[in-house]
Amino acid sequence: MPHVKGLRCRECGREFPEEPIFYCEYCFGPLEVNYDYESMARAVSREAISRREPTLWRYKELLPADGEGTVDFGVGYTPLIRANNLAKALGMRELYLKNDCVNPTYSFKDRVVSVATTKAIEFGFDTLACASTGNLACSVAAHAAKAGLSSYVFIPADLEFGKIAGAAVYKPVLLAVDGNYDDVNRLCSQLADQYPWAFVNINMRPYYSEGSKTLGFEVAEQLGWRAPDQAVVPVASGSLFTKIWKGLNEMAKVGLIDGVRTRMFVAQAQGSSPIVTAHERHTFNIQPVKPNTIAKSLAIGNPADGYYALRTIKDSEGGAAAVSDEEVIKGINLLAQTEGIYAETAGGVTISCLKRLVERGELDRDAVTVAFITGAGYKTQEAIADSLIKPLHIKPTLRAFQAAIGENVRAD
Ligand SMILES: *Cc1c(COP(=O)(O)O)cnc(C)c1O
Ligand SMILES: [Zn+2]
Repeated sequence: MPHVKGLRCRECGREFPEEPIFYCEYCFGPLEVNYDYESMARAVSREAISRREPTLWRYKELLPADGEGTVDFGVGYTPLIRANNLAKALGMRELYLKNDCVNPTYSFKDRVVSVATTKAIEFGFDTLACASTGNLACSVAAHAAKAGLSSYVFIPADLEFGKIAGAAVYKPVLLAVDGNYDDVNRLCSQLADQYPWAFVNINMRPYYSEGSKTLGFEVAEQLGWRAPDQAVVPVASGSLFTKIWKGLNEMAKVGLIDGVRTRMFVAQAQGSSPIVTAHERHTFNIQPVKPNTIAKSLAIGNPADGYYALRTIKDSEGGAAAVSDEEVIKGINLLAQTEGIYAETAGGVTISCLKRLVERGELDRDAVTVAFITGAGYKTQEAIADSLIKPLHIKPTLRAFQAAIGENVRAD
């Protein structure tokens, strides 16, 4: 790989070869990809990137794969939408929505899995696996189907039907585990030691997590090659949040944008908000919780990247908010009814936290703000079923229609 030097421990800095490993054998710190930014800077240009296909692989020089044999079925380069109606409702001036609902399996997880699958094939694996809160299951099963690999997909047994169907349709080996995500993850960590599989978010995690940077790259490119002033991101393990920040800073480092002054804001559901709690208590020590929220895609009680998410808040002079399940539902409805985007529960978390942060004065109403909508609502229909209007059920006659809407309508 031209710009990858290997892996490096985030804690002690020791270097390791580019292999499917994920923690430092000296200090147990997490490993991350170690790039040669000088050679990367010489290789990239706005012009070359702009001319490429509208997928996340347009940024291949900034990713840990060389782009050969890439598994890509149209992931990324999703719309950045100027949200004037929602901005007005919230009293903001320049608000954008990064709409990752429109990826092939309807969530941002396609980004991380596209990179992890490409690396898995490079390493010679024939089987993908994952511990999932739902969206990852769909994406891993789909990428395995597309790449002709086997897959073992582990989910908590109480998942929404839309996520079970959205994974099952690709015919992986689908294991519904009695327990929450943290139980599923513990089991998968044991299995990753025993089976020669590419667990995308365990032994492939250093590569997998780099896929999330592309959300930062795209937003900056779509804003005309500049970083936003403020970003609001839904958070589970904390990986996505930290990688958007990393992506923006890497763009500056290699000269694609001028500088980064983005303030990064964490959005969580109150029923699973260990990172927000630690932030409010001014500590970097995360107290794990037992998740209880309808935002199942964010229901991680013991977040792997929680510490780094807190650092990112601090380094970027950002903040954090958590909202109740009731507010999550209101957020989904507000987004749909102002901007026409039907998001899943994580989107409801983001929109209601955005609102909360504006009301508290933590977000600047006049600054360029991006809210990340990371998954589509069709997978979490249960969550809003009770909050929806009911169809007016009528006979197929003019009179029935008029009676139903309670007024005289002239048809002429
Ligand atoms: C997984 C997920 C997230 C957050 O993921 P991290 O674990 O924090 O990287 C956000 N939104 C949706 C819809 C997700 O599926
Ligand atoms: Zn180490």
